[in-house]
Amino acid sequence: MVMATILLVEDHPMNRKLVRDILLFQFGVDEAASAEAAQDYLQSHHPDLILMDIQLPGMDGLTLTRRLKADPATADIPVIGLSAHALKRDVELAYEAGCVDYITKPITDDPFTFLERIAQRLTTPSGSGTAPARP
Ligand code: MN
Repeated sequence: MVMATILLVEDHPMNRKLVRDILLFQFGVDEAASAEAAQDYLQSHHPDLILMDIQLPGMDGLTLTRRLKADPATADIPVIGLSAHALKRDVELAYEAGCVDYITKPITDDPFTFLERIAQRLTTPSGSGTAPARP
């Protein structure tokens, strides 16, 4: 079975490591520390899903999401927003930009719930990884 690849866009090194370590239970993970780095990566890669920090230095995650949704080459990649901002308007803006889900930081879901939430958004039939074994 092909393991799905998640692109994790997150500028904060500790948050990136934390989320990556959870994702690695079930998915392949590539990382970008900025929207610009993510754009470069997406020139030559087509991940199965993008976990997108909204607050980024330079271009923000909502702007990048809008651009990806407007580009036929990347429009089909599901984007899940990741943000410390939990106001209703923040969530609405993320959905308007094209996100399919919105997860607030710090992540309060247990790791398996978090992984399942991401797996549900994978559109590639072969993309879903095997269920992680509970320790
Ligand atoms: Mn950030």
